[in-house]
Amino acid sequence: MTTSLHHFAADLPKIELHIHLEGAILPRTVLKLAKRHSVDLPVADEEGLRQWYRFTDFKHFIEIYLVIQDLLRTPEDFESVTYDFGREMQRQNIRYAEATFTPFTHLWQDKGLTPADLIAGLDAGRRRAARDFGVEIAWVLDIPRNLSFADGEYTGFASDPTVEMALAWRDRGVVALGLGGNEVGAPPEPFAHAFAAARAGGLHSVPHAGEMLGPESVWGAIRALGAERIGHGVRAIEDPALVDYLVRQQTPLEVNPTSNLCLGVYPTYDAHPLRRLWDAGVYVTVNSDDPPLFNATLNQEYRVLIDYFGFDAAMLEQITLNALRASFLPAVKKEALERDFLTAFAVLRAKHGLADSR
Ligand SMILES: [Zn+2]
Repeated sequence: MTTSLHHFAADLPKIELHIHLEGAILPRTVLKLAKRHSVDLPVADEEGLRQWYRFTDFKHFIEIYLVIQDLLRTPEDFESVTYDFGREMQRQNIRYAEATFTPFTHLWQDKGLTPADLIAGLDAGRRRAARDFGVEIAWVLDIPRNLSFADGEYTGFASDPTVEMALAWRDRGVVALGLGGNEVGAPPEPFAHAFAAARAGGLHSVPHAGEMLGPESVWGAIRALGAERIGHGVRAIEDPALVDYLVRQQTPLEVNPTSNLCLGVYPTYDAHPLRRLWDAGVYVTVNSDDPPLFNATLNQEYRVLIDYFGFDAAMLEQITLNALRASFLPAVKKEALERDFLTAFAVLRAKHGLADSR
């Protein structure tokens, strides 16, 4: 049943902190790119894609993710998916996003792309999206942890190539270094040098942890990588000392409930620890991760908060403010957006007939 609270949630101004550009390519664009580059996909239409996206486990997810990212072959492809991403932000009232992009996978597979091709496309798409849709996109470049630099398989970079690109592109919207991929068999500690170099250069630290593995992965991300936010982090719930630590430090978690269900981290929303973490006082944000791959959107995640986690209007307002305050926007922009958001909350409460509790 759709209520005024659902409409209020859809209209709320939002911030997204955990979404992968390559995982956010809309189905119609996946089909268009496959046609453009004469790539044979195992499916022919959008319904087929939805079926194809029924993941059996994380490994299966990564296989499909790699097929999709391989469809990006030219600077224009990167520009157009970034521009589409901006349009989708506007549609969902997402004012600002820190989107993760994985440059290394595009260079590792021999697609004939250079780092300059990647950033040219991203930057052009980001600028056009800002102009046409009034949205702002910043980038988190993430190291694919299973294709580690420590393997020494590639050359041309003096240190971790993702860190080099992230540092070189700080003036083109890169704000943080991430660590993605499957945690199993790829703990955080070997990436300490890469994160130290990034942090010394003024970048923020936002590794994935506590998704496929439990508390030890989150502790590693905090201690070895200086994590300022944790991508996922939900399995911190398994260690009360870690929950205490996260509450004390107010380290934001980038929680993606539907992603966790689709990849088998939890069987149902009822089993998901989001509400328990929230009630314990952990700093929770809600995000969509790879929305079309999970048949989701950020607006639907806000709906999930209402339908499965008992969120009311004040809690929804808090969750969007949490994301804003945990973002890496400059303080002046953050304060201006917060004023906008508070004004919008009052207007939207009146519009949807919800009592103002402030
Ligand atoms: Zn992610």
